[in-house]
Amino acid sequence: MGGADRGTYCLLIRLDRRVRLTVGRLGRLTFPPGVYVYTGSAARGLTARVARHLRKRKRRHWHIDYLLAHRSARIVAVIMVAGELLSECRLNQAVMSLARARIPGFGSSDCRSGCGSHLAYLGERWE
Ligand SMILES: [Zn+2]
Repeated sequence: MGGADRGTYCLLIRLDRRVRLTVGRLGRLTFPPGVYVYTGSAARGLTARVARHLRKRKRRHWHIDYLLAHRSARIVAVIMVAGELLSECRLNQAVMSLARARIPGFGSSDCRSGCGSHLAYLGERWE
């Protein structure tokens, strides 16, 4: 991985069933079952960040923490792109072009590229 261990990543998440939960300031949201992709970045500690996402028990800080804490949510794949090869928002927008829906405001509090969301819903199955 890159020297400073920085980079972008995508988490492929599967929800086994419909989940309703309160996601910080976004409030109460309903997530249909299926496949989601969350796109993020770490200015340093990319591998530690991804390892953190993979742990169930932790303080909830980011929107994604609320979703991943749910017992029906499972990370099924991780893509890490080390260095500055791909900007978080370029990667996110590429993912969004495949999405069936996006979850407004999710993970995009500090997005300055106008993505509107960093959590894509790909559908019940990815096909
Ligand atoms: Zn963005």
